[in-house]
Amino acid sequence: MEIEQTIRNLPKVELHIHTVGSIRPGTLLAVMDDGEIDVTYESVKDIERLFRYRDFTHFISIYSQVVDYITRESHFERIIFEMLEDCVKCNVHYVEASFSAFDHIERGMEFSAMINALNRGIRKAKKQFGVESNIRIDLVRNAGPDAGMSVLDLIEEKPDNIVSIDIGGSEEKVPPRPFAQVYERAKKMGLHLVAHAGEAAGPQSIWDAVNHLNVERIGHGVTAREDPELMNFLKKKQVAIEMCPVSNVRTGVVSDIATHPIRDFFDFGLLVTVNSDDPSFFHTDLNNEFIQLHRHLGFSIDELFQISLNSIEVSFLPEERKAQLRDSFKDEYERLKPL
Ligand SMILES: [Zn+2]
Repeated sequence: MEIEQTIRNLPKVELHIHTVGSIRPGTLLAVMDDGEIDVTYESVKDIERLFRYRDFTHFISIYSQVVDYITRESHFERIIFEMLEDCVKCNVHYVEASFSAFDHIERGMEFSAMINALNRGIRKAKKQFGVESNIRIDLVRNAGPDAGMSVLDLIEEKPDNIVSIDIGGSEEKVPPRPFAQVYERAKKMGLHLVAHAGEAAGPQSIWDAVNHLNVERIGHGVTAREDPELMNFLKKKQVAIEMCPVSNVRTGVVSDIATHPIRDFFDFGLLVTVNSDDPSFFHTDLNNEFIQLHRHLGFSIDELFQISLNSIEVSFLPEERKAQLRDSFKDEYERLKPL
């Protein structure tokens, strides 16, 4: 138990966390009420029941249902502030918050007003808790590359605190390749490049993301284990993998934590990070992710701390800030380390 307390106290970084997927059940009820949405959900328990999935497709359908309930740009200030407050409870110092802007634009919301609301929440959390945060925009692959281009137009006008793009959604239906020009343009705009790949689709999806989108980081990457050549490639190029173990169990991508490939990836020398993906939707947080890895896959405190350092390394912070964060993490770790 003492070990698990030390794990909770480890300094951490969240690189792959969806803002809407972090909405607290009570906040979702308040947001529905504010939007005068008439639904059958009345209590936090009802929402928790809603957040149980048969499989990946079911998860995506519930996600889009929740998106329907968010009707005002200003809601995002509260959602992201609370998300960051919850991250701080896991001793997270830096967050790259994913935001699927197109989902909300499609429902009539205005991009710059949403970005302003997110940044208000980010500033408030920085002031109250000291946690630092940037935004990564998920272009929503199901909307297609043209929609992706239109979101890049909006980012060009309003780049406040936005560090990267990503494509999440139904990977098996919408492969990475058609997004090649979108990614090329984003790179020219100075944005970093990430894609969800190898979560709900096989290793080819990862190959396509690295070869055609030139991504720096892969979200999930679980199915890389099926392809030894790809494993060697990811190791050689040190492409970072944003792994989200509990999410993969909840959506049925892997059957349980004990069979999650993260242990093999880490031992093989892949640049692995650990993240909570949609903590509220998946009943998890970063402390739980770390503890599960310790309990079921034998990750030691030193190994888990190495994962925190990996996350700093592959974050989209400037090099100087990375070095400061690394030093402060090491100091904190020295104070925590059991004798
Ligand atoms: Zn994700």
